Amino acid sequence: MKWIFFDCFNTLIDEADALTGESGMEPIAHVPVAAGVFDHPDDFMAAYFGWRSSAWKDGNAYPEVTLPERLRSLLGPRCSEALLGPLVDEMIDTFKRWYPATLTLTPGVLSMLEVLAPHYRMGVVSNFFLPGTVDEVLEQFHIRHRFAFAVNSADIGFKKPDPRIYVHALSLAGCSASDVCFVGDNLENDVRAPIRHGMYAVHFDRRHSAAATPRIASWDEFEPVFS
Ligand SMILES: [Mg+2]
Repeated sequence: MKWIFFDCFNTLIDEADALTGESGMEPIAHVPVAAGVFDHPDDFMAAYFGWRSSAWKDGNAYPEVTLPERLRSLLGPRCSEALLGPLVDEMIDTFKRWYPATLTLTPGVLSMLEVLAPHYRMGVVSNFFLPGTVDEVLEQFHIRHRFAFAVNSADIGFKKPDPRIYVHALSLAGCSASDVCFVGDNLENDVRAPIRHGMYAVHFDRRHSAAATPRIASWDEFEPVFS
């Protein structure tokens, strides 16, 4: 049996900023300002992106740093331990209230999954910085049952393109890499790295941003490739 491994965000499920990058921190940036830890939400955002660019990678390994861990790193030097815990909790709660409402099903996903389900086994391999979220959002859109597994980087401690996440997904599938077509919007994580592991790959490239082939601009065009 052949497998299809899907990326989740901006592949199956669109974030509000699907075409501009990682989900924003803007909706939680007012919380540390209200607590007096930053003067302005823009100051928090600048500090977050500064921290992120310095902490993103560790040699050839890509550890996933969860959102609570990120906030503790960022806010810890600026406030007391007594304030830090409640502040991080409030920011996480705010994020969890806000985030699901920003999501939409990527156009064409439901019919694509219905057409493919009789012919392939399917799994999800996703980066996300809160444990459990990938299962939750797939349930939110009633598509979790389509997939044999859903890997979430925050649940396993490393993220794409760390080699371990692909090995982990293959072990869950119980198949060899040559039985897998990976598809997703990120050229490195969802195309190049899977190919390095011996999988086939299709770039879900709505922005026409890359010259990778094969590529598709909508789910209507998707045909899994295995040679
Ligand atoms: Mg993605």
